[in-house]
Amino acid sequence: MEENKMDFRDQFRKMSDDVGKMAREVADTSKKATARARVRRMINSCNESLQTIYQEIGSRYYVENQCQPEEQYEGLFQQASDLIAQIDVLKSELAGLDNASICPECGSKVNDGQKFCPECGHKNESYGKWKAEAEAAEAARRAAREAEQAEREARKSAQAAPAGVYETTAEPVSSEETDAAAESAETEDTAQ
Ligand SMILES: [Zn+2]
Repeated sequence: MEENKMDFRDQFRKMSDDVGKMAREVADTSKKATARARVRRMINSCNESLQTIYQEIGSRYYVENQCQPEEQYEGLFQQASDLIAQIDVLKSELAGLDNASICPECGSKVNDGQKFCPECGHKNESYGKWKAEAEAAEAARRAAREAEQAEREARKSAQAAPAGVYETTAEPVSSEETDAAAESAETEDTAQ
């Protein structure tokens, strides 16, 4: 932190020097426009640093006072704690999409295939659960593929296409594409 403070002071000193130099140098209007743009950029840069500092003050104040917020901050503290809880729920949901969970001890992501948290060693309560779920999902996918295949076979015989044409097609056709093809075939039929 001490280092950052020095960096910031040096930065500020350099900026002030630059602005002073510019003010002396700029006589004509075109140079003034350039100088104006530069000064504006510096103001923006200072504002950004200020926002970061405010943010730091705010989050530290929250952490230090969350058990007993001053009355005038109670509403904001409540909003902050609601958001923190919501973020936790969303993180768990996100981890769930990757067959993982959030360690309740340290907040790390733990894959459902890991018995313990890789960061802190806490027991993974979701261990083993993923296997049954993954197997069920795979079975569902297989059933859907088989249904699709059966549907394609049915269409093929309905259209009485020459046998060899479809059998040599290596690329599997998705049901959407098949549907689109079927629709356009129907449109052509009505047009004739
Ligand atoms: Zn952990």
